[in-house]
Amino acid sequence: MMSDNNNTGKPVVTRFAPSPTGNMHIGGVRTALYNYLYARKHGGKFILRIEDTDEARNKDEATEAILESFKWLGLEYDELYKQSDRKEIYRGHLERLVEEGKAYASSEPSKENPDVLIELIRLKNPGRVVTVNDQVCGDVSVDTTDLGDFIIARDFNSPMFHFANVVDDHDMGITHIIRAQEHLSNTPRQILIREALGFPPFIYAHIPLVLAPDRTKLSKRNGATNTLDYREHGYLPEALLNFLALIGWNPGTEQEIFTLPELIQAFSIERVQSGGGIFNTEKLDWVNREHIKKLSHDQQYVLVEQYLPIEASTLPQYSADRFRKVLPIIIDRIAKFADVKTMWTDGELAYFFDTPQYVRDMLFFKKTKFVDADTKYEHLSAVVGEVATMLESADWSSTDTIKSAIWDYAESIGRGDVLWPMRMALSGQEKSPDPFTLAYVLGQEETLVRLRNAEQLLLS
Ligand code: GLU
Repeated sequence: MMSDNNNTGKPVVTRFAPSPTGNMHIGGVRTALYNYLYARKHGGKFILRIEDTDEARNKDEATEAILESFKWLGLEYDELYKQSDRKEIYRGHLERLVEEGKAYASSEPSKENPDVLIELIRLKNPGRVVTVNDQVCGDVSVDTTDLGDFIIARDFNSPMFHFANVVDDHDMGITHIIRAQEHLSNTPRQILIREALGFPPFIYAHIPLVLAPDRTKLSKRNGATNTLDYREHGYLPEALLNFLALIGWNPGTEQEIFTLPELIQAFSIERVQSGGGIFNTEKLDWVNREHIKKLSHDQQYVLVEQYLPIEASTLPQYSADRFRKVLPIIIDRIAKFADVKTMWTDGELAYFFDTPQYVRDMLFFKKTKFVDADTKYEHLSAVVGEVATMLESADWSSTDTIKSAIWDYAESIGRGDVLWPMRMALSGQEKSPDPFTLAYVLGQEETLVRLRNAEQLLLS
């Protein structure tokens, strides 16, 4: 493997060069990130270049999606270009190559309609073995004889992708071309074009594909590939970048959670692997949770609020104060902010802001000892009443102080027969946090109201 230093002697300039034909693919973000990290690490420049020469396939929305994704991710580029603005430049280079006899215009029958003659510009291919010295894949040699005099433009105003790509990489002072491994097979052709143009070499690093867990290329069929969907689902941009960085690269240490500045520090091409890396959503969720935990309470508050359905704020007991107390419970249960919506639809949130709804039989613990049909409601009502009475004088400063107010009593009756009805009285849900946490969040007054309601309900 070659050294990771900037061995051109020039300031490092990298680029990400997407073709705007669809959504911003998540694998493309990983390519952009490696370019960004490398440039920042070496105090160089990172360029975003929209390769929109293929008019039939380009979409304006796709360019918008690329720019929007960069903004959201906080990947700042130093310069932005669109190839469609640079046609004059390509034309100049094409004309020069033809004048110098390195390329030629040829009139040929069209493939679609052999009766029609079209003009193409072809490179005079010296037909030799070309070796790509790749920083990730090593030396890759290809005999280019079979390529023949390949096409570099459809006419002087319509360069092919390979040609515009090489001209730009030179004109923009790109030193390092870090891109997906699927472009490795294009590289010999691009090297021949570069040599014909008389440009000095670039340093290449072809990075491994991002694979789905079934080890096929990550595509819409086997995973979510649209970057902006991750924004919608409430992933944090720094978490997504952190996760993507680790697909195909590792820092050589145990560290897995990185801020963007830490990634810049740690990144090196030498530690990029040559085999494909797996996009594992569970890992992404874990990384996202770790980043969510690092946010301040105020930041968490704003984000959770964005995803909490508007109906929540119309519930009778909704207040900013109550919401703030519920916040740690929510944060503990989500992997991404869209999970807040799921919690809401699963009924895991409304009871914090409204009187819970349940039927009285739900107050019985599944292994309750109150089974006698004639007395069970009365007995359980007495237990719930006793809990309420004990909590009237409880210290409400923490879940532990609330717990200690009734713990001995719960042990004496049997924990299930005390804690289960308490939890049901407070949440109305089979699944909810423990009763002490609920009591703490709801506050003493509301806790007592809900317990007294249950006490009454059992007698009704
Ligand atoms: N425009 C090409 C693409 O979107 C990238 C070319 C390159 O990075 O050299 O795949």
